[in-house]
Amino acid sequence: MKSLSSLTAIAALFFLVSSCNNPSGNEKSTTVKAGVTTKDFGEFEGKKVQLFTLVNHKGDTVTITNYGGTVTSFVVPDKNGNYSSVVIGFVSLNPYLQKPPYFGALIGRYANRIGNAAFTLYKNTYKLNANDGKNTLHGGLKGFDKVLWNASVPSDTIPSLDLTYNSKNGEEGFPGNLEVHVTYTLTDDGGLKIVYDATTDQATPVNLTNHSYFNLSGNVKNSILDETLWIDADKYTPVDSTLIPTGEITSVKGTPFDFTTPKKIGRDIDQVKGGYDHNYVLNRTDSTSLEKAATVTDSISGRTLEVYTTQPGIQFYTGNFLDGTFKNHGGNPITKHSALCLETQHFPDSPNKSNFPNAVLQPGEKYHEVTVYKIKVNQ
Ligand code: BGC
Repeated sequence: MKSLSSLTAIAALFFLVSSCNNPSGNEKSTTVKAGVTTKDFGEFEGKKVQLFTLVNHKGDTVTITNYGGTVTSFVVPDKNGNYSSVVIGFVSLNPYLQKPPYFGALIGRYANRIGNAAFTLYKNTYKLNANDGKNTLHGGLKGFDKVLWNASVPSDTIPSLDLTYNSKNGEEGFPGNLEVHVTYTLTDDGGLKIVYDATTDQATPVNLTNHSYFNLSGNVKNSILDETLWIDADKYTPVDSTLIPTGEITSVKGTPFDFTTPKKIGRDIDQVKGGYDHNYVLNRTDSTSLEKAATVTDSISGRTLEVYTTQPGIQFYTGNFLDGTFKNHGGNPITKHSALCLETQHFPDSPNKSNFPNAVLQPGEKYHEVTVYKIKVNQ
């Protein structure tokens, strides 16, 4: 497969093998030099775009571009030791500029939907740019996924990337200058850790996430309906026909939305109009700690994805609108149900739902959220 071979080549390129004598002195073990390499990835609005490759000691790699703070690949071995990317993405910048549905991108200022593209805060009504019918989706016409982030590599030896973006007062209709800082780190246990920090000079709704689409088999020809999902959520937020929450918080028990016991994603999907595209209310033990929220397992590759987060919700989306327009890593078309998203978040439309957890950041406060996507392999 074309996509697989190019990704394997990327992994191989960063496999700087060093030979270490073990205590007996007659055997050698293989380690990988961890760190970050940088290359040019084209141009956007007259500025150079870069692609960063993060590699950990095991030889897992994550590539991230500062265009949209986008994760373009996450390459890990399967149970047979074959490397492939578990997220969908592209090998060049151009397809990202054709407005794909947020593949791997950072999302802000407000992830998911705000109903009627408006909200009222302290008696002021703010009109946003509508980009999903009459609603605002993922920050509006030019969200954080469509801007160039400032990038810096904080360490020579730790596979980590710092990204910052200053979103101006009034951008897409949101109030306040928002300074955003996102750090991606690839940990040695196969985790992509994402730390989100932000501050503002006026009260504003903030909801930051990453929109990676996973197919654990590494091949979009395999439907994610055959993967098995567990979500630590007894409740979810039902939506209307435009995918805006109705405001209810409903038990999943006895419904197709119940993933509290692991089940195949495809088992009950026919009973969900349009497929899964819903916010789950995570069963948290407290509001700030990093807790396991979901797992996905794939029998073909033997891979498991574990999602940990500090956030109150997670958007489970089964790639219902994927229609084959884009090709994964230059290879196979990305079609309906060929990938899934587990977007950690505050609840959609919270600025208009007083019963949902508060998503307004105040001046002087610090927005701080952490999410980890960890890949494990069952040998
Ligand atoms: C939304 C979907 C949307 C997708 C891509 C998800 O977060 O919930 O409705 O189609 O993002 O835009």
